[in-house]
Amino acid sequence: MSQNTQAYPIIDAALCSGCGQCVAACPTGALQLVAGRAALAEPEACAYCADCEDLCPEGAIGLPYEVEFAEDQQLSGEQHA
Ligand code: SF4
Ligand code: SF4
Repeated sequence: MSQNTQAYPIIDAALCSGCGQCVAACPTGALQLVAGRAALAEPEACAYCADCEDLCPEGAIGLPYEVEFAEDQQLSGEQHA
């Protein structure tokens, strides 16, 4: 696993109704509707604000919070260039 792994919102297409609320609410334009489902079209634009997760009425969006701080304390010094 890379230490530089960027976490992004995960959209469960099976739950998404395509309502578009997350797309409209996303402050950075990272989300778009693709084939009637929300998609993280521009992941690098995501500010990880969690607005989409909070407002999705279907619970289709989840932000995988990384618990790296506690791990970093144990792994301090283990850095790969
Ligand atoms: S708010 Fe939820 S249900 Fe609506 S488009 Fe976004 S992910 Fe799909
Ligand atoms: S976390 Fe925020 S910036 Fe990222 S896709 Fe969701 S609403 Fe947009």
